[in-house]
Amino acid sequence: MSENRPEKGSLTVVSGFSGAGKGTIMKALLSRYEGYALSVSMTTREPREGEVNGREYFFVSQEEFDRTIEEGGFLEYAKYVKHSYGTPRRYVEDQIAAGKDVLLEIEVQGAMQILKKMPEANTVFVTTPSAEELKKRLRGRGTETEESVAGRLARAVEETEFIPYYQHLLINDDLDEAVGKLHALIQDSKKRQAFVEQFREDLKNIG
Ligand code: ADP
Ligand code: 5GP
Repeated sequence: MSENRPEKGSLTVVSGFSGAGKGTIMKALLSRYEGYALSVSMTTREPREGEVNGREYFFVSQEEFDRTIEEGGFLEYAKYVKHSYGTPRRYVEDQIAAGKDVLLEIEVQGAMQILKKMPEANTVFVTTPSAEELKKRLRGRGTETEESVAGRLARAVEETEFIPYYQHLLINDDLDEAVGKLHALIQDSKKRQAFVEQFREDLKNIG
């Protein structure tokens, strides 16, 4: 490692059923610990009440989204239910280079694209303890129409098929506990990676 370059950060993909608590966990993780950077995605969906452009998402038109695809500006992108979502490439690359532990809160198709490009990424799938609890939280959030709740639950059934591709399953029962577990597994994964990198260097030099 060069003397004046910061240690490279890590990349963690957090996916999970809509309503499982990903957003809530991310917020708590960022407020509780230092060193994390949450990527803000672009989406073509309408902002929910209380959401701010540039904070939860960059809310854009389909035209702007398509232009960003053409310019190669996304690290990954996908359609979810009726809208497009994508991760702006630049921010993620810059933050990792600056030593941050970058978090992507994205759905399963995007996660698979990231794994192909960056197999070293850490992957976590968030679920509620039960299907009943998922429906309850999704409704309780009060942001979705009944049609949207049904669409998201139907999508959740399809998403279960992707869970085996994730390294970790995080059951979000008690919020504080889930946040602590996520932090621990990200830090463990970093240590593992550092160990492997050091081992490889040592092997090369051992002759
Ligand atoms: P997601 O980002 O996965 O769609 P949210 O973070 O919006 O989910 O959470 C969905 C709803 O569940 C919100 O109303 C949130 O306050 C609630 N919630 C999140 N985590 C928990 C938890 N551990 N226990 C109970 N309710 C939770
Ligand atoms: P929501 O509309 O509830 O904010 O998000 C719907 C789904 O899109 C969630 O599963 C969320 O994780 C996912 N999502 C948010 N941003 C991105 C992104 O940049 N790329 C992909 N592939 N999925 C995203």
